[in-house]
Amino acid sequence: MFLGCHLSISKGFENIAQTAIKINANTFQFFTRNPRGGRARSVDLSDIKKMNSLLEKNNFGPIVAHAPYTLNPCSQETKNRDFASLVLQEDLILLENIPNCFYNFHPGSHVGNGKEVGIQRTSDLLNDVITSSQKTQILIETMSGQGSEIGSSFEEIAQIIEKTHSHEKIGVCLDTCHVFAAGYDIIHHLDNVLTDFDKIIGLTRLKAIHLNDSLKPFGSHKDRHARIGAGEIGLFPILNIIKHPLLKNLPFILETPNDSDGYFTEINLLKEKN
Ligand code: FE
Ligand code: FE
Ligand code: ZN
Repeated sequence: MFLGCHLSISKGFENIAQTAIKINANTFQFFTRNPRGGRARSVDLSDIKKMNSLLEKNNFGPIVAHAPYTLNPCSQETKNRDFASLVLQEDLILLENIPNCFYNFHPGSHVGNGKEVGIQRTSDLLNDVITSSQKTQILIETMSGQGSEIGSSFEEIAQIIEKTHSHEKIGVCLDTCHVFAAGYDIIHHLDNVLTDFDKIIGLTRLKAIHLNDSLKPFGSHKDRHARIGAGEIGLFPILNIIKHPLLKNLPFILETPNDSDGYFTEINLLKEKN
């Protein structure tokens, strides 16, 4: 099983791999830059290479880079969309130096322009930034539907992919808290949810799982993560997810409210019960 958590990249790439190893993880996720936006880190290729060799030596699974969540690919303002496009392009250049790393992003909020416009703008952005030579796959994250977020239904995600030219460069990351809050009953009907996902998007596109419990109830459209077992989903449904034959080979990334000691405990708990 590939299991890890979100970690800070503030001390560099070699450090993040060392931290991951220390807490028993064999995958992880990091923000490509300050999540509130801002400039890219100055790139230290030798640091990245040190991380790459640590990951290889320790048999890590695929890792995940997360785009800043304040980007809005479907903003009404051209300058915001241009900024999102610039950030994605810069990040994709950086990520070409990391083998086996997905690039996850939030499809954005339509802020009153309607879902259709939002979906079109997000796929326009993807068409803008994807190059034919890139090796990195971009993952669209399933969202809770808070505010005017797009991507809270499998249909909307399928539409974004459909409108994008380079289908083979696009995958999906399923966030358990988000889909639960969006109204997909992963507690009682996980198989049905996965069947729907397969019919509408295709399970071959599913590349990573954000493994979170939810502080807010089913269908609430509220995005509040809880520790595993401390939320409305609960431990057993989450164990069913990591054991599911269609999911068990994917990288599972915890984004629960924890420091690294807390993640260590959570990772060990899940490994023990798996
Ligand atoms: Fe996210
Ligand atoms: Fe997430
Ligand atoms: Zn979330």
